[in-house]
Amino acid sequence: MRISKGIGAILLASEATAALYPNNGQTDTMKTMVACKRAVGGKYEQQSRLSADFSAVCKNSSYMADFLNCATVEIKRLPQGNMQELSATIQQTCQQPLPKYQYAGASSYSTSLFQIAYKSYDAKVHNDTASVWAGTAVLVYWISIVGLGTIYNLLNKFVPRQIVSLKKTTNNALVRKCRQTLTIPALFGMRHSEHNAWGEIIPTRLESLILAGFFTLVVLGAALGYRSVPGNVAYTNRTGEMLSAVGHRTSTILIYLVPFTFLFGTRNNVLLWLTGWKQSTFFAFHKTMGHILIFLALAHFVGMYEYFRREGILPFVKEELFYKLGITLAVLMVLFFIQTTSWFRRRVYEIFLIFHIALAAAFLGSLWHHIASSHFLVFCKATVGLWAIDRVIRLIRLASFGVRSATIKIVSDETLSLVVDKNSWWPTFPGAYGYVYFLTPALFWQSHPFTFVKDKDGYLHFYIKVKGGATKILYNRLLNCENQETVIKVSVEGPYGNYNRLEAYDNVLLYTGGNGIPGPFAYCKHLATNANEKSQFIKLYWVIRNWHSLDWFYEELKELAAFSNVAAVVYVTKYSEAKIGYKHIPEDASSTSEEKAASAGQVRVASFEAIKLIQEALPHVEFREGRPDLVGLVQADMDEASQGSTAIMTCAHPAMCDTIRAEVARTVGTKSSRTVDFFEEIQGW
Ligand SMILES: Cc1cc2nc3c(=O)[nH]c(=O)nc-3n(C[C@H](O)[C@H](O)[C@H](O)COP(=O)(O)OP(=O)(O)OC[C@H]3O[C@@H](n4cnc5c(N)ncnc54)[C@H](O)[C@@H]3O)c2cc1C
Repeated sequence: MRISKGIGAILLASEATAALYPNNGQTDTMKTMVACKRAVGGKYEQQSRLSADFSAVCKNSSYMADFLNCATVEIKRLPQGNMQELSATIQQTCQQPLPKYQYAGASSYSTSLFQIAYKSYDAKVHNDTASVWAGTAVLVYWISIVGLGTIYNLLNKFVPRQIVSLKKTTNNALVRKCRQTLTIPALFGMRHSEHNAWGEIIPTRLESLILAGFFTLVVLGAALGYRSVPGNVAYTNRTGEMLSAVGHRTSTILIYLVPFTFLFGTRNNVLLWLTGWKQSTFFAFHKTMGHILIFLALAHFVGMYEYFRREGILPFVKEELFYKLGITLAVLMVLFFIQTTSWFRRRVYEIFLIFHIALAAAFLGSLWHHIASSHFLVFCKATVGLWAIDRVIRLIRLASFGVRSATIKIVSDETLSLVVDKNSWWPTFPGAYGYVYFLTPALFWQSHPFTFVKDKDGYLHFYIKVKGGATKILYNRLLNCENQETVIKVSVEGPYGNYNRLEAYDNVLLYTGGNGIPGPFAYCKHLATNANEKSQFIKLYWVIRNWHSLDWFYEELKELAAFSNVAAVVYVTKYSEAKIGYKHIPEDASSTSEEKAASAGQVRVASFEAIKLIQEALPHVEFREGRPDLVGLVQADMDEASQGSTAIMTCAHPAMCDTIRAEVARTVGTKSSRTVDFFEEIQGW
């Protein structure tokens, strides 16, 4: 009883929302024509379909006579029936003036059949229109979200100081609460950058809200606004009618989503530049959209398959190309679902990527032919265009960098330092990264993103942490090279990334760890070098495990001595283990220059004297022992910087970034005097 009431309520809601949708250019005249064709067509066509295809009518004068008889009678019965429009539409449809038909006498027709055919076609038009509206709503949703992001980004880009001032004046309790609970924090607890137990990155709360809105819209769009007609002439029963309607609705929403889903997954997504959002944000959207596409495609497949089966037309449909492509698409969707699991992505990223691209191409090709005769093909064309543009820009970026010789070496047995020259006009900016192609036989087909720092001579410096894939292959190769150093050919596709206008803030706090230092360091140097920004206070933290990590970023740290408004703090978590790199091994009898060269990538346990020497060599850097108490540290820094505006940037171990994000959200919500913005540079997917 309750269930039937529930279904009744859904149908009522469905009918109510149905009234909102206009008819898709299908006028009463056209509906009358289609219904008349159906009412009189039984005599002339084996299967008179409820469609706007009048070719059989146009070719046969007797058919036309019966059809006209019905249409002229029925059009007059309609409140807004228009005879002139009727004859004009028929002439236009048949591409022939009506007088050219040699009329035989018209026979009568069943008005009840006409009426039910009219209602049936009206319902079909309505359901098709509702599908288009559902797809449009989802599209408009994304355009609005991205539009808001674009406006915010452009304001921050062009009038950053005014925006920061505005934030100061509008920092009321409501705004603070909103930032604390909606825009800054992770979805649940603290975890965002750090992968969860299933190896997935959970979008931030704001990203999740955007995705929840999208999901809700898709579900409502797929569930509401259906019109059903008892005794519908196009179906043998109501189940078939609804299965077909749901099948068409889900496929329409799907096709509207395809261009954005592809666009969000590309490197040269124009929306990256417009919104200033990170690639990882768009990839998070891309993943959810992809999963929704899978769900919609399977719903479409099941709906249509069941409809064909119940109507008894499956044996005929099976012979059609569109059906075979439909099966192919369903299989592709299942494959997508399996291969996009984090298990593949995290273990064999490059294989995952190749397989993913191959599946996407197969999907697009199959979809294209599946809907070749539909006006929705335009969405496939748009998708191919967007994808092609991305690939062309990628090639241009690669060509503009060219193939260059790069020096690569192991430093401190943990990091690969890669230095490569570039054309002077090749643009760089703080926080920029490039996809590096290592042109060796084993790795030329891969590209890996790394942030770079530009030195005063224009060389790009990459600091690459050794992990388990390409980086490990390079590391192993270097182990066999003299001085653990060699020259290889590389190309860099870039620069990618977004420059945040941190110069608009009074205080800039940069929290980094391990190989996360290059981006924030580039910001630090850029801000400190800019003569107009001398009044700005910048604090750069770097958390490293051992002293020997200093080796690969030593020269950069030394550069900071030139800036009086920069405070640099290095936390060495294994301070007392006193492991130092070759750069700081004291000259003594046991370490000849040859020995030092041989151990260039290695580390040694040193005396505290050696550590003292390091500290003396970097007097402008404060060294602290152990792990930082991040919550206390961020609180103290924000208290110190309580006057004026503060930008907080993180690029460190994911757990460190998450802790700082949570603390910033808490402080922003509770302390009224703070104008604090949070920028997270770390990205993962
Ligand atoms: C925007 C950005 C900037 C980065 N900057 C730096 C940097 O300056 N220094 C640094 O050491 N690391 C950086 N990384 C991380 C670096 O790209 C990966 O550590 C590297 O690609 C791992 O290569 P691998 O084959 O040895 O990894 P694997 O051991 O095979 O995998 C380790 C992890 O890296 C991921 N990964 C592997 N290949 C890629 C890829 N092509 N694209 C994205 N993720 C991948 C895997 O999913 C896995 O989670 C950056 C990542 C991003 C997204």
